[in-house]
Amino acid sequence: MAFELPKLNYAYDALEPNIDARTMEIHHSKHHNGYTTKLNAAISGTALENESIESILSSLDMSNKAVRNNGGGFYNHSLFWEVMSPIDKGELSGELKDAILEAYGSFEDFKSAFSSAAATQFGSGWAWLCVHKGGKVEVCATPNQDNPLMPGVSCGGTPILGIDVWEHAYYLNYQNRRPDYINAFFNVINWNEVAKRFAAAK
Ligand code: MN
Repeated sequence: MAFELPKLNYAYDALEPNIDARTMEIHHSKHHNGYTTKLNAAISGTALENESIESILSSLDMSNKAVRNNGGGFYNHSLFWEVMSPIDKGELSGELKDAILEAYGSFEDFKSAFSSAAATQFGSGWAWLCVHKGGKVEVCATPNQDNPLMPGVSCGGTPILGIDVWEHAYYLNYQNRRPDYINAFFNVINWNEVAKRFAAAK
């Protein structure tokens, strides 16, 4: 059972002006597609072939670079597309809002912590909001295509929101202005989806 590149729930131009159509098209149809193809090649004929991506990543042999990079890339982008939306995004509310306020004091302080994690991740990587069992939330960042599901990664729990800070995610429109891209990302966060993931994982 090979993994398939997920379809987006919106058009490539739907997130403009926050994320431009050309970036979205290349990011999804080239980068994410590449991770998907290479993940399938890496697990073909192995014991991992019939496992879920979450299962593959949470019990990953981190020295297996092909599965680490491409399995991470497959999972991370699949989450990324879903935690953004042009419409019906909802607002931060309910138990997720309570958990964020408990951990960070205010939405602005949470935004600042998340943005800082994203801005200061050196080179390529991701910033995350994760939830631990029991409902405590935490912001962290990981290099390359690593993510918090993987063993020994410095942050833990289940990722419920993530931003890709590889240059391929923003360079065409923002060039070296990563902080502007991070700020724009906050305009398209699908809080309904993040809340759904929080409820499922807490
Ligand atoms: Mn990417």
